[in-house]
Amino acid sequence: MSGRLAVIGLGPGDARFLTPEAAEEIAGAEALYGYAPYLARLPERAGQARHASDNREEIARASAALDHAAKGARVAVVSGGDPGVFAMAAAVCEAVDKGPAAWRSVEMRVVPGITAMLATAAAAGAPLGHDFCAISLSDNLKPWDLVERRLDAAAAAGFAIALYNPASKARPWQLGAAFDRLRTHLPATTPVIFGRAVGRADERMTVVTLGTADPALADMATLVIVGSAETRVIERPGLAPLVYSPRSASA
Ligand code: SAH
Repeated sequence: MSGRLAVIGLGPGDARFLTPEAAEEIAGAEALYGYAPYLARLPERAGQARHASDNREEIARASAALDHAAKGARVAVVSGGDPGVFAMAAAVCEAVDKGPAAWRSVEMRVVPGITAMLATAAAAGAPLGHDFCAISLSDNLKPWDLVERRLDAAAAAGFAIALYNPASKARPWQLGAAFDRLRTHLPATTPVIFGRAVGRADERMTVVTLGTADPALADMATLVIVGSAETRVIERPGLAPLVYSPRSASA
């Protein structure tokens, strides 16, 4: 008998960002798999097993969840934000691609969530209102040289750029190097948004310019959006500035 595997996005923080579909899948799961801090966001339920693992063990976690579902169980793997954005959905697909034939018979459903870039953009205004892209600054799964080439191409093409994984204790210099690279393409006045812990009680939004952007403002819980040359900041008396990218662009 084949079970069912749901790969679920929890959104960026508070339960108010969890979609009704995600809540339904979580409620119906016999076993939950995920990075410990994500599982900790969910209330314990009688009869529901929890398998917490470290953030770096994505393929092992995906394989364990697939194995469990292939035995007939209803299993859920949880991710922060959206599971398809630098998260577990691709890890589960990689495991299915390379794993035993039985895993291909597991009914699988990816349940979308609000990704950090959209939560951050919404909190700032509409910086992703025109063409944009997303780049992870983590060089754990790709060489730094490739990150630099993508930054060059994105900035030169006029995209606003969402930067995931901008910094961690093990990766302290990458964001500074990325800003230096982007400064060679974009005006010093280009708006840069730091969204930290967006959607959580300790959310902190900071809007600066590329010329003065301090990489020390970012940590593992921060999403950075670097505007395009068209992105604008509207200062408002007594209110946070509004950052937006106009819907139209010329040449
Ligand atoms: N699947 C997640 C992203 C995982 S990569 C999603 O869709 O959001 C982890 C990175 O996401 C972090 O380093 C940070 O850049 C970003 N991130 C996740 N949650 C965040 C939040 N609440 N506020 C700001 N950035 C967040």
